Formats: sequence, structure tokens, C-alpha cells
Amino acid sequence: MPSIIPSIRSKLPDVGTTIFTVMSQMAVEYQAVNLGQGFPDFPMSDELTALVDTAMKNGFNQYTHMNGLPLLRERLAAKAAKLYGSDLNPETQITITPGGTYAIYTALTTVLQPGDEVIVFEPAYDSYIPNIEINGAKPVLISLQFPSYSIPWDEVRAKLTARTRMIMINSPHNPTGAVLDQNDIDQLRSIVKDTNIIILSDEVYEHLIYDGIGHQSILRHPDLLERSFVCFSFGKTYHCTGWKLGYCISPAEMMKEFRKVHQFNCFSCDTPKQVAIAAYIEKEEAYRTLGPFLQQKRDFFRELMKGTPFQCIPSHGSYFECYSYGHFSGEADKALAIRLTKEYGVATIPVSAFYKNGEDNKVLRFCFAKKEETLQKAVEKLLTFIP
Ligand code: PMP
Ligand code: GLN
Repeated sequence: MPSIIPSIRSKLPDVGTTIFTVMSQMAVEYQAVNLGQGFPDFPMSDELTALVDTAMKNGFNQYTHMNGLPLLRERLAAKAAKLYGSDLNPETQITITPGGTYAIYTALTTVLQPGDEVIVFEPAYDSYIPNIEINGAKPVLISLQFPSYSIPWDEVRAKLTARTRMIMINSPHNPTGAVLDQNDIDQLRSIVKDTNIIILSDEVYEHLIYDGIGHQSILRHPDLLERSFVCFSFGKTYHCTGWKLGYCISPAEMMKEFRKVHQFNCFSCDTPKQVAIAAYIEKEEAYRTLGPFLQQKRDFFRELMKGTPFQCIPSHGSYFECYSYGHFSGEADKALAIRLTKEYGVATIPVSAFYKNGEDNKVLRFCFAKKEETLQKAVEKLLTFIP
């Protein structure tokens, strides 16, 4: 009998390997300085790692509550009240997740039915569109206005249909470092008012915001929160992207459905790290100093980059700053990113990877969440670049 080899009909036929993995692998292969994938190369807090050690030694090594360690949820509610004036019930409105990406995926899976439409602004963090499509829904793509990367709200209005189910926002924004302001919130409010539209707000960079700008969290706006899933990541807040721990906040009724999906996918998250963060979160200066700390890195990097032919598109938040090169070259951004890695030893992320149709504005994204010596080394190499 000939054996039958099962085959899979791909649910994501157009998707390859994420650009972050591709560029990080290439950086290793060519021993390039990696300013591509977003992760810090400086150490996280010794105090926080010691708290994990203590938690493990104290026996916090079994499943914790499926919605997240109760003390951590209580403290997150207290933090949100302090920062954003929100009034959250930690029992019913907060769920700890294995990272922000998972929280986003779960929120989309909770809501979307086949044929639903989701408004997505591009460039978009690369998990959004596949996460929509795998649920049988349709991303409705709107390009942010180049080079300010602001939202064209009139176009949003024009693209609303009876099937519009969600609008995804992300501030501070990956990859551009753009941040939403009060006017954006007002526009969003006027659009969703009296509709059935749900907002998914990706706020993983809530503390990585610069130039004295205040973060326009959805948590500040009860009338918007009542129709929102808001996603966060401890990885960004505590310099530990490898911990893959985050959380989602929403109204209780929506969270009830979110938890139905979550409980049979992950059930519960890493216990000792939740115990540790529940203690460390009381140390306010750890997250209050994050903005100034990273702003200094952005400024340091920006100053160094002035010596190169790349043109800065100013970032006001996130780990990233974008630089354009269309004024001196027509080379495709992916080709240039590969060439810079292989020939000059600096890995970046081509911003066309954040557009479904590969729109190429000749822009590269640089991660500046690095030691100064790393940034210096990278720019020294870029200074030898001959366009
Ligand atoms: N959203 C954006 C915009 C991000 O840049 C990231 C970083 N990876 C995430 C979500 C997810 O974070 P996490 O690593 O916690 O899944
Ligand atoms: N958020 C990070 C970035 O944009 C990396 C996430 C990932 O590698 N999946 O670079």
C-alpha cells in the first residue's frame, strides 16, 4: 500500500518568515551590528531577575490563576488609575497574557467573524494582518501619510462599511515612532460613536514616549475603553522581550469572551515572573524613567546619524527611528537592508515589510534601544557607506 503523506492547505498562503527573524539571522550570519529586530542589548534590572529567583525558590512554580496572578492584576489596575485615571476591575477587566502579540491575536480571534472588516494603518506591525486573515476577516488597509505617518481620518471615514468591525491603532507606533494626539482621539471618537466598531489599541510602547508628549492611552477615555481591547507588554517596560509576558484590558463583557479563547490556548502564564513583576511594579521610577532613558539613546543615535547620508524621520516614541534615503538612491529598501548587513555590517528593517503590498518609500527602521557603544559601532560602519 502506498503511504499517504498528509498535506496542509495553508491558512496563510502569502506569508513567509517574519522580517525580524530574517534580518536577525542575517545579522548573525554576517556578524553585523543588529539594529533591526527590536530588543535591548543592555541588561535588565538585577533586582527584577533576583525577584524571579526568589519567587522560584519560594515555591511559586505551579500554574497560577488562568486570568493572571491576582496581586499583579490588582497592581496593574492601581497603576492604570494613577497614570491614566482609569477605574478598572482587576477581577473582570485585566488578563495576563504570554506577550502583547498573543493579546492582540486573542482579541482579534475573540471578535472576528468571517467577512468582517478591520481597519489597519500601514506601515503596520507585521502580526496584525495575518492575525486578521487567519480569522477569515479582511484587513482594510490605509496608508499613514508619508513622511509624518499621521492618520488620514477622512480616508478612514470613506472606508467605513456595514462590515467594519474593528479599528486597530498603535501609539507609540512601530515602525515609525509616530504618536497619536488629542485630535486623533477626537477623530476616532467621532467615527466610532453610535457604531458597533471595536477598537484594538496596541500600547506596548506606552512608556517609551519622548519630547514631553503625553501618551494618549485609551485607558484615559472611559467612553472609548467601553469598546476597546488595550494590549500591553512587560517585555518593553522592563527590558525583557524574551520573557514574553503582557496583558490585555477591556470591558468585563468583552473580557469574558477574550478569556474563553485564552483559557484553551495558553490557560495561564509564567508564575514566578508574575510574582516578581507584582513586587517590582511598585517601584514607580522603573517605568517613569524609561522615557528619558530611551530618549537619550534616540538623541545620541540621531546625532551620530547626522554624519551619514540618511535622512531622519523624527521618532517621538517606541524603540525605533526611521531614516529615508530616497534623495540619493532608488534602490529597493529590502535590497539595501540586505546589502548594508552583508557589505557594511549593520542590520536594519526595511519599512516596506510593514506594508501588505510592499509599498517602498525608501525608508529603513533602526532600533536605538542599544548600548551607546553598539550605536557608535553601527554608525561607524554606516559612515563608510557609499551610496
Ligand atoms: N505590538 C508592537 C507594535 C510591537 O512592536 C511588539 C513587539 N514585539 C508587540 C506588539 C508585541 O510584544 P510582545 O513581545 O510582548 O509579544
Ligand atoms: N517588536 C519587535 C520589532 O518590531 C520584534 C518582534 C518580533 O521579533 N516578533 O522589531
